[in-house]
Amino acid sequence: MRKIVIAGNWKMNKDARETEEFCVELGLCLSQRKLDGVLPIIAPVFPFLARAGEILAGIPVRVAAQDVSPYAAGAYTGEVAAAQLRSLGLDYCIIGHSERRQYHAENDTLIGVKLLRLREQGIIPILCLGETLQQRENDETEEVILRQLAGCLAQAELQTGGELMIAYEPVWAIGTGRTATADQAQAAHALIRNWLRDKYGQASSENIHILYGGSVKPDNIRELLAQPDIDGGLIGGASLQIRDYCAMLDTALEMAGVEQENCTR
Ligand code: PEP
Repeated sequence: MRKIVIAGNWKMNKDARETEEFCVELGLCLSQRKLDGVLPIIAPVFPFLARAGEILAGIPVRVAAQDVSPYAAGAYTGEVAAAQLRSLGLDYCIIGHSERRQYHAENDTLIGVKLLRLREQGIIPILCLGETLQQRENDETEEVILRQLAGCLAQAELQTGGELMIAYEPVWAIGTGRTATADQAQAAHALIRNWLRDKYGQASSENIHILYGGSVKPDNIRELLAQPDIDGGLIGGASLQIRDYCAMLDTALEMAGVEQENCTR
């Protein structure tokens, strides 16, 4: 049974103090809540991962990194290795975000290597993919998604499917305020799930979380989560305010059938 994942991608936002404040607030908000069926994740920048993990110790929130080096160790100035993330106790790491593809010229082959490095360390990759506006307008959406899946997962083997998350993020919807309609998102997610079924088998494909990302916010998350193949959100802007993040968690808890009072923070 897949949980509903509410993953906050903070990108290059929040300094040390702001990170601490958010984590303290989130800890207070979640310490009195049952989170059955929902998995909250936050992804701060590298320097504050350890502090976020310390503050949230014992709270059922997972801390994720936003990227990883394709190299295992050594003379690679500025890089952070999967083993180093593992040594912090991290379980998740975003890879292949469109901003890294765009500003750092990352391609599917490189992202596939990063994915293998993470798997070697037992870290679950949150693999981002999705088409640009021009590709959608040229009717290339399916082709692009299938090409990215094949390229990034060419060498990836899975045991149960629980070792992988995919985030479908249409580039035209990221940070633009323009969300894919629930139907558009579901169609892409179903395409991804079918591809995963062909490659990894029915059982594994049912265990892989497929998140939607692209201007998700408290007032549109319910409709997205109601789709059968949307297992959560990878959320940028709206994950930065504790009130919005908790509001989205509350919606997820409600949709997972967990009964409790809404978080008042
Ligand atoms: C993202 O950065 O992964 C993202 C989806 O951003 P936003 O929610 O701000 O569109």
